[in-house]
This record gives sequence, structure tokens and C-alpha cells, in this order.
Amino acid sequence: MTAALTIAIDGPSGSGKSSVARAAAQRLGIGYLDTGAMYRALTWWCVDQGVDLEDRAEVAAAARTMPLELGTDPAHPVVVVGGTDVTAAIRTSEVSTAVSTVATNQEVRGILQQLQREEVTRIAAETGGVVAEGRDITTVVAPDARVRILLTASEEARLRRRSTELHGTADAAAVEATRDQVLRRDRDDSTVSDFTDAAEGVVVVDTSDLSLEGSIEAVLDVVAGATADDAAH
Ligand code: C5P
Repeated sequence: MTAALTIAIDGPSGSGKSSVARAAAQRLGIGYLDTGAMYRALTWWCVDQGVDLEDRAEVAAAARTMPLELGTDPAHPVVVVGGTDVTAAIRTSEVSTAVSTVATNQEVRGILQQLQREEVTRIAAETGGVVAEGRDITTVVAPDARVRILLTASEEARLRRRSTELHGTADAAAVEATRDQVLRRDRDDSTVSDFTDAAEGVVVVDTSDLSLEGSIEAVLDVVAGATADDAAH
């Protein structure tokens, strides 16, 4: 049996991370782990349960007991919490605006990172590999992954993409309305994880001038290069 293929992808909001990670997992025929969905699910769960997001101990307690079921099929990454399908609900701007408060809670990070390590191992064993994406996968959750990639893009490209995704247009007003969800969120998130500089051994893929298809191909090229290197050794 060949070793499972573990691929770690980090990057800021709007870098194309989620779409690229899902497509890469689909084409490689392996599982997918969206770690951002776990922080989003916890945010949704706390709001649903009436837990004050500023109460760090209560939020950490909720992280320990959250009844989370995370779909790992890249074609249908369904998120269910306490029996409720929250796949769409965790993408609302209410959750996007609040999620960094939960993600900068260090006790919460420790709990979710441990869960993520277990998931990476489980999914890789079940499907022959995993593409795990987030902010600290290459550095903290899976620093020993076979392939480690930092997906970046210029601020302008990231704002344009998120704006088109959220408002269907990237005109000046829409870009302005998206600013908080991209720049402020990244600023808050970067107080606890470094996803702007690549750690040693992490390959940078800049998607500023690439289409989605071009970004997927660039990532698959890095994967092919790394696995060819392995085969040669
Ligand atoms: O990737 P996505 O935008 O869905 O992530 C949502 C939020 O989850 C991020 O803004 C960040 O606060 C948090 N996150 C994190 N570490 C990860 C993945 C996501 O702190 N590995």
C-alpha cells in the first residue's frame, strides 16, 4: 500500500483556497477537510445556544461538546451541528463577521486543532489522502504533510473575488462592502496564525493573475512535483 497523500493548504480570505482545495481533492480522488468550516460551525453553535462569544471559557466549553458532523466529500462538504444542516448558515455575513472572535480564542484553537489532526489522519486512512485547508495547516495542524502550499493573491484580487461571490459584482460600492470581511478579518486572524509568509518548505502559489482553473492546475503541478520527488528518492 502507498502512503496516504496529505496536502496542506493555507491562505488568506479570497485567495481561492476553498474552491481550489475542493477541486484538487476531487481530481485526486481523496477527501477534503475545511478547517474554517469548523470555526464557523462553532460560531453558529454559540449564537444558537446563546453563548456570549466574548466569554472565552464558555466558548471553549462549547468547542469541547459541539455535536459536529463534517462532510469530507469534496463534492458535497455538508456541515451539520446538533442535527441542523448549517452548510449555508455558516457562510452568512453574520457568521463571517463574528468568526474571528472565536478563532482568536487560544483555548478554542487548541481544541479544534487537535480535532483537525484526528480528522486528517482518519480521512487520509479512509480515502487514501486528504486536502486540508485553513490558516495554520502548513504550520501547526499538519506541518509534516507531504505537500504544503500557501495560496496568496493581491489585496485587489482578493477583494474583487469576494465581492463578486457575495454581491454578484465587483463595482466600487460592492468592494467597499466586502472590505470588513476580507481585510479586517485577515488582520484579526493574523494575530494568531501567520498565513502571509510561507514557513520553510512551504510552496507559494500566487493566484492574483490566475483563473480558478489555472489556480487548480498550479496546485496540482506542485503536488505532482512533490510526489515525483518522493518516487525518485
Ligand atoms: O476559510 P474561512 O474563511 O472559511 O475561515 C473562517 C475563519 O476561521 C477565518 O476567518 C479564521 O478566523 C478561522 N480559521 C482559523 N484557522 C484555520 C481556518 C480558519 O483561525 N485553520
